[in-house]
Amino acid sequence: MNYFEESLNLHRSLKGKIRISPKMDVRSKDDLSLVYSPGVAAPCQAIAANPDDVYKYTIKSNTVAIVTDGSAVLGLGDIGALASIPVMEGKAMLFKRFANIDAFPICLDTQDTDKIVETVRLIAPVFGGVNLEDISAPRSFEIERRLQDIGIPVFHDDQHGTAIVTLAGLLNGSKLVGKKMEDLKIVINGAGAAGIAIARLLKAVDNPDSPLATPVKDIVMCDSKGIIHAGRNDLNYAKLEILEFTNAENQSGTLKDALVGADVFIGVSMPNLLDRHDIRTMAKDSIIFAMANPIPEIMPEEAKAGGAAIVGTGRSDLPNQINNVLGFPGIFRGALDARAPRITPNMKLAAARAIAEHLRNPTVDNVIPPTLDEQVAWRVADEVRRVAQEEFGVRED
Ligand code: NAP
Ligand code: MG
Repeated sequence: MNYFEESLNLHRSLKGKIRISPKMDVRSKDDLSLVYSPGVAAPCQAIAANPDDVYKYTIKSNTVAIVTDGSAVLGLGDIGALASIPVMEGKAMLFKRFANIDAFPICLDTQDTDKIVETVRLIAPVFGGVNLEDISAPRSFEIERRLQDIGIPVFHDDQHGTAIVTLAGLLNGSKLVGKKMEDLKIVINGAGAAGIAIARLLKAVDNPDSPLATPVKDIVMCDSKGIIHAGRNDLNYAKLEILEFTNAENQSGTLKDALVGADVFIGVSMPNLLDRHDIRTMAKDSIIFAMANPIPEIMPEEAKAGGAAIVGTGRSDLPNQINNVLGFPGIFRGALDARAPRITPNMKLAAARAIAEHLRNPTVDNVIPPTLDEQVAWRVADEVRRVAQEEFGVRED
C-alpha cells in the first residue's frame, strides 16, 4: 500500500478523524431544560460555590488538550500550527482508542514561549491534563517546567513518553542479555527532547532514591558535534545540565569513540549513522535502540551483522517497535483517575515497569509489548494511578 497516497484519500473522505459526540440525545423540552437553560444553572452554581465540583459535573475529568506550536512535527520539522493538525487528530484518536480519553488538538499560532505558557494557563479550566506535543527543544523544556504548577498534569510526550518506553525496553533487554541495569554503559546519540529525557530517566536523576529506580552506570551523550563533554563551549543550558550526571570520565571525541566498549546504543538523532563495524567495537551482546524516524540510525540486519543481540527501532514494520503509544494513553488515564496535579518521576518509572512487566516472556525480538496490545494502557494506568495516590492521596469523587 502507498501509505502517503492512501492517507491523503482517507483524510479527504473523512474531513478529519475525530468529532464531538453528545452523551445523550436532546429530544424533548424537558431534555433541553436539563442539559441547557434553565436546569444547567444548578451545576454552574455548584461549581461556582465549590470549584472542585467541576470534576463531578463536566467533561474536565476525562479531557486532555494536545497542545502544539507546530515547531517540531514528527520528523517534518517546523511546519506550523495548521499543518500539524492531522498529527494531533491522530494522537487524539489514540487517546480514545487505548484509554477512552477525550483529547482535543490545540494547535497554536505562535512559537513564543511566554505566549504558549500563558495560553495553556488560560485554557486549562476545561481540561484534566495537557499533552505538549511536537514543540522543539530546548523551548519545550522551559514550557513544560513553567506549567508544572497549574494544578493538572502537563506532560511533554516527545520527552517522557519516549523515555518511558525506552526504559521499559531496556529493563527487559538487559535481563535477556544477562546484564544488570546498574552495570550498563550507554551511548545516547541525539541531545534533543527525546535524548535528554531518556538520559534523565535512565539515571533516575529526578528521584535517585526511589525504590522503582535502577540507574544505569554511565551515559555518554552525543549531539551533531560528537560527545558532549565539559571542554565544549557551544553547549546550550539543557546540554550543560546533563553534564552533571553523564560522561563521568569526561570523554571527548566522536560518536564512534563513544561506542567502543558500550553495552547499549540509543539513537534519537538522524538516519544511517552507523554500520556493522561500529557495532563490533561495542561490548558483547550489545543492545541497539535506533529510533530515528522514519529511517533508523542503523537497520536491524546491519546491527545484527555487527553482533548486536537486541535491536529495536521506531518502526511498526520491524521487531521491537519503541513507540510512545505504549505509554501516553495509560499514563494520562492513571493521572486523570487519581486526579494527580502533576506527573511525577515515580509515576514515570511505574509506567516503564508496567510496560516491561506486561510481557511475561520477553524475547530478543519481543522486548517490548506490541504497540497495538490493548491491555498495556490499562496496566500502565493501574500502576500510575497507584503511585499517584501514594504521592498525592486518594481522591473520592
Ligand atoms: P530534536 O529535539 O530535534 O533533537 C535532535 C537531536 O539530534 C539534536 O540534539 C541534534 O544535535 C541531534 N543530531 C542531529 N544530527 C545528529 C548526528 N548526525 N549525530 C548525532 N546527533 C545528531 O528531536 P527529538 O524530538 O529528540 O527526536 C530526534 C529523533 O528521534 C527524530 O528522528 C525522532 O523521530 C526520533 N524519535 C523517535 C521516537 C520513537 O518513539 N521511536 C520518539 C522520539 C523521537 P544538535 O543538538 O547538535 O543539533
Ligand atoms: Mg511527537
